[in-house]
Amino acid sequence: MENKVPVKNIAVIGSGVSGLGAIWALKHSNHRVCLYEANSRLGGHAHAVNFRNEQNGTSCMVDTAFMIVNDTTYPALKDLQIDRTPAPNSLSVSRDFGRFEWGSSSVFAQCSNLLRPSFWRMLFDIVRFNTFVTDILLAGQDRSMESIGEYLERERYSKQFRNNYLLLMTASVWTNDVDQCRRDFPVGTLVRFLWNHRMLNTFRDDLPWSMIKGSSSAYIDALLRCYPPDEIHMGKAVQSIGNDEGQLWLQTAAGTAHFDNIILATSVTEALQILGDGITKEEREYEERISVTCWMNCLQGLPIEKYGPIFVTINPIRKPEGEQGRWVYEHPRYTAECIKGQQRLGIIQNKRRITFAGAWTNFGFYEDGFTSGLQAAKHVEPNVPINFADSTLSRGQPSLLSLLDHLATTTVINIQFNSPDKDVFTEYNQILECR
Ligand SMILES: Cc1cc2nc3c(=O)[nH]c(=O)nc-3n(C[C@H](O)[C@H](O)[C@H](O)COP(=O)(O)OP(=O)(O)OC[C@H]3O[C@@H](n4cnc5c(N)ncnc54)[C@H](O)[C@@H]3O)c2cc1C
Repeated sequence: MENKVPVKNIAVIGSGVSGLGAIWALKHSNHRVCLYEANSRLGGHAHAVNFRNEQNGTSCMVDTAFMIVNDTTYPALKDLQIDRTPAPNSLSVSRDFGRFEWGSSSVFAQCSNLLRPSFWRMLFDIVRFNTFVTDILLAGQDRSMESIGEYLERERYSKQFRNNYLLLMTASVWTNDVDQCRRDFPVGTLVRFLWNHRMLNTFRDDLPWSMIKGSSSAYIDALLRCYPPDEIHMGKAVQSIGNDEGQLWLQTAAGTAHFDNIILATSVTEALQILGDGITKEEREYEERISVTCWMNCLQGLPIEKYGPIFVTINPIRKPEGEQGRWVYEHPRYTAECIKGQQRLGIIQNKRRITFAGAWTNFGFYEDGFTSGLQAAKHVEPNVPINFADSTLSRGQPSLLSLLDHLATTTVINIQFNSPDKDVFTEYNQILECR
């Protein structure tokens, strides 16, 4: 970078992947960058903790809120070239203390499912959904903003498909509650994500997921390599920021500091608290909130014989047995308003020399946070030599339906709605569920 560029004082608030992404990108500039982190540790959601097996004294590092990635939809993180190992990814459902169970990798593990018409109906609906739901992306903004519940109702999907597949999957991917997903989650956002992550493929071509060797702290180390330690202010929560007569200031318990630019890389709730009364009308539109259970032995390849069973549960219904720790994470909750807000983010970006970054600016995942940090760095210093691909639709847009697709759609609809057996599914289901 040439010396002609005036050196700026830049503050980054929040050391999650978004904040660290911004810092990593600005490393390529002459600017002075200070990091403020409220916690006494760095990484935000990238947080691995020590798990102990009290019986045999073994211990291992377990990630509590950031686990799996893949090369296709995480291209920017892939470029960091951090060692990874394959992570099996599947969905299993267990209801009523095991009376009903099924899993995407063991569909008929419970043999009684072979005799449940409602279960066959759910499988039929999965194929139907995977084949035809991308129509919604071609149907325009209004249809995309419909909630998942409204869409399933309108298209007459079965209760089993809704409750034992789609809503559970959505709730577990976004760590939301099931009812909130039904009521508020825009179907277009879900479909765009599922299409992009090849999760609409019924029989083939899954994305190979992986996890970071060791733990997610490898990302923190890679992103902060060569960053001056005296510019890191840990345990220093930013109380407020403001811009008075062109003077941009930041307040912590230790006092006030002045900066040329601020990158606010926290969750929306935290950002609103920091902006306080000084928030502009446009910035207030981002008011939001959000909230999984993961089998960590399976995801992280930690042998159960050695460490015992390890689970990470978000918002547990009851106190988990043998609980070893509890942490609080902020996560966005997606609604039509939130998606419309994302689309208008450009209106507030860098307007008061304050730039917003965070996974919430896109699908809510690690790559989204990292690329939003890179983008924030570009806002502040357009000359940073960082090129990154937006992976929101790395797989491209779903193609228009062919004549054959339309024919197949009509056939599926006919099987579902016009068959004289259409209520038999429901009737059998009610009889069997009552037993
Ligand atoms: C259980 C769970 C599992 C997940 N699994 C995956 C996964 O497998 N793959 C994936 O891609 N994504 C996953 N995610 C999502 C992913 O972890 C997040 O999207 C991403 O890490 C968010 O990064 P961020 O930088 O936007 O926010 P954060 O990581 O939340 O960082 C914000 C930082 O700002 C700090 N801060 C807040 N207020 C202040 C203040 N006033 N002053 C100073 N600092 C402040 C916070 O302490 C925090 O460190 C998961 C999330 C959860 C909850």
